[in-house]
Amino acid sequence: MSPSPLQTRTTSVDQTRALAGAVAELARPGDLLLLVGDLGAGKTAFTQGFGAGLGIDEQITSPTFALVQGYTGRLDLNHLDVYRLEQIDEALDLGLSELLDEGSVTLIEWGDTITSALPRDYLEVRITFGDEADDRALELRPVGPQWQARMRALSIALGAWAAQGAGPVADDTLAPGEDGAGAC
Ligand code: ADP
Ligand code: MG
Repeated sequence: MSPSPLQTRTTSVDQTRALAGAVAELARPGDLLLLVGDLGAGKTAFTQGFGAGLGIDEQITSPTFALVQGYTGRLDLNHLDVYRLEQIDEALDLGLSELLDEGSVTLIEWGDTITSALPRDYLEVRITFGDEADDRALELRPVGPQWQARMRALSIALGAWAAQGAGPVADDTLAPGEDGAGAC
């Protein structure tokens, strides 16, 4: 039986980066994370925070044109964006199996589009837009044994992250109906 996904929210890009840094604390060589969400959801922002958590000093940017970008840190990071891949064969041509065997951590934006070319052992991070411009919902779903075994640790890490005050605050300041003004 698979453990249930973890769900959390952020209200700024810095919170998403900080949360990703907390996830990176648990990273191990050979790990794979798939980042799922529409354009502008925060997949690259998550990667930036994750990279910072791995001790990568270099600026992480969108690898859309390079497809694969490598960074050196406490653990090395491979950052891929497969948005523009038109054929699954192109994903296979990237030499994914070599990337995954190298002992580094691999994050793939739009990775859900190439799951048939990937091992079934990864953490899927799904980011969706919330009500306000900077609100995001994040769902962390383990697929396969590597991350399933770490879900308790991940839950504790995210709980500690939220408790530090970095996490979302309860939004009870908005009066009922206040956001409905102008609706007809
Ligand atoms: P993607 O890689 O999914 O296309 P990016 O990470 O490149 O998305 O862009 C996310 C954009 O959304 C950035 O401009 C970022 O500043 C903004 N943003 C606003 N709020 C958040 C949030 N809570 N989490 C992540 N990004 C956010
Ligand atoms: Mg991106």
